[in-house]
Amino acid sequence: MDDELRDLYQEVILDHGRQPRNFGHPPPDTNRRADGHNPLCGDRLSLYLTFEEGIVRDIGFEGNGCAISIASASLMTEMVKGKTEAEVRDIFRCFHGLVTDGGAEADLDALDKLTVFSGVREFPVRVKCATLAWHTLAAALDGGGEEVSTEE
Ligand code: ZN
Repeated sequence: MDDELRDLYQEVILDHGRQPRNFGHPPPDTNRRADGHNPLCGDRLSLYLTFEEGIVRDIGFEGNGCAISIASASLMTEMVKGKTEAEVRDIFRCFHGLVTDGGAEADLDALDKLTVFSGVREFPVRVKCATLAWHTLAAALDGGGEEVSTEE
């Protein structure tokens, strides 16, 4: 990866880390919730969804953690709003591929801005920061309840 691209990636992550989108009070009428914890880094997230007719109508989150975990949650909420559960799980699978095995099965067009996280695969601990929001979202789609931990 050239330096210019790396700088751009860093800029997007810092921007979303500092000013996360869909952060704060949950949207009205949420009907799903899940909490996620990454003990290795100390990241904690709570996700709130309005999930109707198989579609993520609205999503918000609260929590605190490192810039990568917050930026990932922020970009994720932007990306999944209005998507079906199947589409969301598809993106998660691609994203997981991107940050672990180098994106062998990742559809980079579908991932759009999420490709900014491709650099984390060089840092295994950071992979957990980047995927925490997605694991938490999967738990919320499963019905929520138990806290999700990256160490289970
Ligand atoms: Zn973290």
